[in-house]
Amino acid sequence: MKFTILTLFPEIVRAYFEASVMKRAVAAGLIEYELVNIRDYAYDRHRKCDDEVFGGGAGMLLKPEPLDRALEAAGAPSVRTIFVTPSGRLFNQRMAQDFSREERLNILCGRYEGVDQRIIDTRVTDEVSIGDYVLSSGEVAAMVVVDAIYRLRPGVISGESLEEESFASGLLEYPQYTRPAVYDTMQVPDVLTSGNHAQIARWRLKASVAKTLAYRPELLSKDNLPSEVDSILREVIDEGGWHEPGTSDPGRTGQK
Ligand code: SAM
Repeated sequence: MKFTILTLFPEIVRAYFEASVMKRAVAAGLIEYELVNIRDYAYDRHRKCDDEVFGGGAGMLLKPEPLDRALEAAGAPSVRTIFVTPSGRLFNQRMAQDFSREERLNILCGRYEGVDQRIIDTRVTDEVSIGDYVLSSGEVAAMVVVDAIYRLRPGVISGESLEEESFASGLLEYPQYTRPAVYDTMQVPDVLTSGNHAQIARWRLKASVAKTLAYRPELLSKDNLPSEVDSILREVIDEGGWHEPGTSDPGRTGQK
């Protein structure tokens, strides 16, 4: 899969592609990337890429001409082209899965007040927001989107790790522990060291349901959840639900 990132600041994004799991995926030929500096497509004397907004208002907007040329060279809109913007559709795991099926993906990073609408109308196929807040520019959002997508590509990460994650089953992930089994008097739940896989699976599902109920209750009304969730949810509510970090709950680690 090839990512083409169109930005005024390729240096912000470069380090991301040159480290850790992404670096290995690139070295293994699983992922390709190209960083396009939009300014390279600005042909006037000052290589100007922004201008004032028609109708007035604070701030500048990315001009159409350099963007249009850069996006044309990147194959947009025949190549699926994401514009990261707070006014886009809220990004989620299902969208990441959908994008991960593409062989090529362009991501356009905005700056200042954003991008001339005519470019969005003619070159962009998907407007994507990473959350209900405003960042100063699109590079961090582009990295979030790339990161959620590329790890779903075959061979990048083991399939088992992906199956167990938050959202894979429609719920948030259960708490996890590693050695030592007792740390500073806090003990790992007995069931997790019992070796009883059926009980461990049930404990995990129950903890997932409890955490989802506390933090993301709207996920529990989706129809793709494991069939036992309804009965487990009743148990969780009867037992008082999830205990948030920072609340003292000596019984939490003993939860079964
Ligand atoms: N005027 C825009 C608005 O109110 O919707 C905000 C522009 S923001 C200061 C500059 C750029 O940062 C945007 O064009 C976009 O590329 C990026 N950006 C900011 N917040 C974002 C978010 N939540 N999701 C995706 N991209 C974002």
